[in-house]
Amino acid sequence: MERVRVNLNQIKDHSYDILIGAGFVKEELLGIANYERAHIVVDKVVKELYGDYFKGESFILTADEHFKNIKTVEEILNFLRHRKAIRSDTIFAVGGGIVGDVVGFAASIYMRGVSFVQVPTTLLSMVDSSVGGKTGVNLGSVKNLIGSFYQPKRVLIDTVFLETLTEEEFKSGLAEVIKYALLFDKEFYDFLLESRDSVLQRDCELLTKIIKRCCELKAQVVEEDETEQGVRRLLNLGHTFGHGIEVDSDHCVKHGLAVAKGIYLEALFAVQQGLINSKVVECIERIFELYGYDLHYKPRSIELFIEAIASDKKAKSSGLVLALTSDVGNGIIKDGIDLNVIKKFFEGARWMRPQ
Ligand code: NAD
Repeated sequence: MERVRVNLNQIKDHSYDILIGAGFVKEELLGIANYERAHIVVDKVVKELYGDYFKGESFILTADEHFKNIKTVEEILNFLRHRKAIRSDTIFAVGGGIVGDVVGFAASIYMRGVSFVQVPTTLLSMVDSSVGGKTGVNLGSVKNLIGSFYQPKRVLIDTVFLETLTEEEFKSGLAEVIKYALLFDKEFYDFLLESRDSVLQRDCELLTKIIKRCCELKAQVVEEDETEQGVRRLLNLGHTFGHGIEVDSDHCVKHGLAVAKGIYLEALFAVQQGLINSKVVECIERIFELYGYDLHYKPRSIELFIEAIASDKKAKSSGLVLALTSDVGNGIIKDGIDLNVIKKFFEGARWMRPQ
């Protein structure tokens, strides 16, 4: 079993462990189901595929961005009330990023906060969303507009879950893995270039190593900047345009796949604006193309796309903040970016292939 510690103890100690292994979560979940004082919220697909991991009552959530809303939070709160959950109880969130985000938010407001444990079941949630305490739901078409910073008590990562992910979902998670490499770690980038075949074959040992590296990188960033005032903003690489793509495509493009396109398009934009050197675009293309990503995107509606970007939490009155990578392993922040300039970039872009 691998272990990564997230040390968060500046004001009060809410440090926690991330455990990474293969085949240990079933026992954990069956164990807690016997507890009177633990409650499980589980992804519908996961419950169907791993039914024997669960005993007793659980709340089943359909992982769909259209259900990632305050109504679902209310239903979970009612489930907790019906279970007579009390403040010392623990809620288990078993699923991908949607389940983790929604349950984390519900846990942060139920009785002003109850403990929750993240049991991520997608690659994306293992390497990113289950760590760091960002929770939240969408409001209307605006993604994650409501939310809180609320850290889990533990994160239990079982690589067994990766076996049943669709190729699309696996690649969606892999985009976030590549994001870490582009931002922070050239050696990791080279390692990913060399290990393509084994990664795509979902070699368990290799994936454990990759997930551990991503969790270490995320832990370091979150330890330094828990509430995203500084270095944590780098993790938004690809997420500004990616966010616009998710909304513009009505979530037909999955989060991680939108991030991959976002990383590429933001880099092209940044080169056009003279913010970064064009060499880095080649490195971005190289790794994503090696893994078979389609990086192009033509917004259905540039208006909607720009509106989504404008309502992004990363926007400031002085303009947009963009996380970029100036070289592999060297993430940078550029702020004060004018939305009209982005709009013109998309209006004038002849290189974008239609979807
Ligand atoms: P998801 O939760 O929608 O899951 C993707 C799909 O995989 C769903 O259909 C789900 O039912 C299915 N699934 C889950 N586990 C499975 C398994 N083991 N086998 C087969 N199918 C399985 O998507 P996601 O990519 O995990 O997460 C995306 C969400 O995460 C977005 O809402 C995004 O905003 C959020 N996010 C949050 C953070 C954060 O820091 N909180 C970071 C990144 C992304």
